[in-house]
Amino acid sequence: MNTFAALVTGLTNPIETLASFDAQVLLDAGCKPALVREWTKVHKVYYGPTKFTRKQANAITVARSTKKSLDQLAYIESRLAGITDPGKKWELRLALLSVKGNYKTLQRRAQDIVPEVDKPAPEPTIRFGRSRKASRPMNVMGPDRDMAAIEYALRQKVTGDGPAGPQMYEAFMTILGLRPDTEDTPTQSIAPAVPRPLILIPLEEHIKIISGAGDDVILGLTDGTTMTGAEYLAQNFGDVLEVAVFHPQQGAVNLYDTQRFANQKQRDLARALSPTCPVPDCRHAADNCQVHHIKAWSQGGLTNMDNLAMLCRYHNRTNDDDPERSYHGRVDNIRGAPIWRSPRGHLVPNTVHPYGAMALLYGR
Ligand SMILES: [Zn+2]
Repeated sequence: MNTFAALVTGLTNPIETLASFDAQVLLDAGCKPALVREWTKVHKVYYGPTKFTRKQANAITVARSTKKSLDQLAYIESRLAGITDPGKKWELRLALLSVKGNYKTLQRRAQDIVPEVDKPAPEPTIRFGRSRKASRPMNVMGPDRDMAAIEYALRQKVTGDGPAGPQMYEAFMTILGLRPDTEDTPTQSIAPAVPRPLILIPLEEHIKIISGAGDDVILGLTDGTTMTGAEYLAQNFGDVLEVAVFHPQQGAVNLYDTQRFANQKQRDLARALSPTCPVPDCRHAADNCQVHHIKAWSQGGLTNMDNLAMLCRYHNRTNDDDPERSYHGRVDNIRGAPIWRSPRGHLVPNTVHPYGAMALLYGR
């Protein structure tokens, strides 16, 4: 037998070989993890613990006699994934194992043997994906009638020139009111995303932050005098700009604006400190994030800047609020800026958007 024939023999009647299956050996040999997962599942079915020991032994016998390949054994498990009753599952597995023939035959026969699992219709939803080269996917799931109406409306604008996709995209943007120069007057429109710039002011390191008074801070100067943050800015920058003050060690100090709603102010400062959710590789913009208390509110954490971070909905939910628990990792405040700490305690920045205020002002 040549080496190729030996390899094929191993794949075509693998039920004996599977008995001594070892996932680590496969991984060490360079097999792809998806394949190792698939085979692990198959191994568990035929050699793992079960209440149905007679059916399991029977299945091994049948698999041997019909010479099921590893691919076929894996296909059978994927086909049975939706079946919840374990007794019923063994019954169907034995029926599938009894099918003689190649992979295609098994697929065809499986259609009759395994009943369709009745899945509920997917919920209407919209998902936004990760940006690549300044482009971003948006995925919409909705009832047929809504989607058909949208498709009909968009296809009205498609001409014979060029592919339909880009033309439908432009038509869609026009309907949303995001192409204001076109002749079509949109019936409904949404505002294009307008970034609101925030001017970041670095404080001199020798200035001490003495205390907060009302919603302002008191700055201590080296000549022994004090002034409020607002006075400091009026002196240095006038009072017309929306500016935020950052201290090199303590981070966001205060935001000065004609409107003084503490919550909005804190949100804006938190947004400036971390323009995205701080968890590594998370792409959610701070504008779409929730205010997170680093020390939980329930444990006495205050709504102060050094205790706040903007986290996306998902990471706000999965964050390890209890520092003693290390499962998903948690967001901390290190020298004035929020940063993610891994379950093993390593600080890992999110590099998706590297322009947080402390990085811009102080290079970190
Ligand atoms: Zn996130």
